Amino acid sequence: MINVVVAGAAGRMGSRLVACLAEARDLRLTGALEAPGHPALGRDAGEVAGVTRLGVTLTHEAAPIITGDRIVMAFTSPEASLTHLRLVAAAGGRAVIGTTGFSGTQREEIADLARKAAVVLAANFSVGVTVALRALALMARALGDDYDVEITEIHHRFKKDAPSGTAQHMAEVVAAALGRDLGAVAVHGRQGMPGERTGKEIGVFSLRSGDVVGEHTVSFGTLGERVELTHRAHNRDTFARGALRAARFVAGRPPGLYSMQDVLGL
Ligand code: NAD
Repeated sequence: MINVVVAGAAGRMGSRLVACLAEARDLRLTGALEAPGHPALGRDAGEVAGVTRLGVTLTHEAAPIITGDRIVMAFTSPEASLTHLRLVAAAGGRAVIGTTGFSGTQREEIADLARKAAVVLAANFSVGVTVALRALALMARALGDDYDVEITEIHHRFKKDAPSGTAQHMAEVVAAALGRDLGAVAVHGRQGMPGERTGKEIGVFSLRSGDVVGEHTVSFGTLGERVELTHRAHNRDTFARGALRAARFVAGRPPGLYSMQDVLGL
């Protein structure tokens, strides 16, 4: 039995993780964290997630429940996730982190902490997106510089970071495959008279609308044709189930920073 702590357990992703954990036979919820002052503190995590009572109370006190024998699964904010990961590293434990929006400095700290903790970090735990990232590298290399790359993503109105971590990752994969420096060629908006599109730019655009769980399209367009790769997440359980696969994967691993590609053996 693998023991798990969910951070952000009353959030949109955290509550689906708790619900999926309630059905898993080999994984057990042993701790549930929420932000200080959150109205669900003190309540049962299973009841908050809308499933059966699980006997695990939501708390904001992370230090006592983040132990070396538990896997911390975090879908929270960058700051909260780093605070929790520091505790995981100090305990020599393991973590699955789905939080997005980390800065470059924060990513460096995660890589540093992963020398003491086994960490799976993924901006998107869906199997479909993980495979799509592979396909994108192939498409970009094969199509080459004559195809204009434009990436669009749509998410629900509550999403805080933009572009999505997945869109950012897709742009990184395409830029690497084409030998471009993403920082120099990324375009995040066009307005007024930006002039003709340059061949090297990679457009990344974010739409926010209603309750869209997550959609990403990468378009490669040239004179005469356009080829597009689209992924649509229909619900959050696709991310939760992928994250549970990552927890099973990381359970037996030594310290290191792992990706969803590693989890799927791609
Ligand atoms: P949400 O706002 O619904 O949930 C986040 C939860 O974290 C909230 O309940 C909040 O109270 C809690 N939290 C904040 N600070 C905390 C702290 N110090 N300790 C414990 N809990 C704390 O957001 P969401 O839609 O569930 O998304 C959360 C994160 O996961 C975002 O960064 C989002 O982009 C990311 N996400 C990743 C994937 C993926 O597959 N990797 C999928 C969906 C969302």
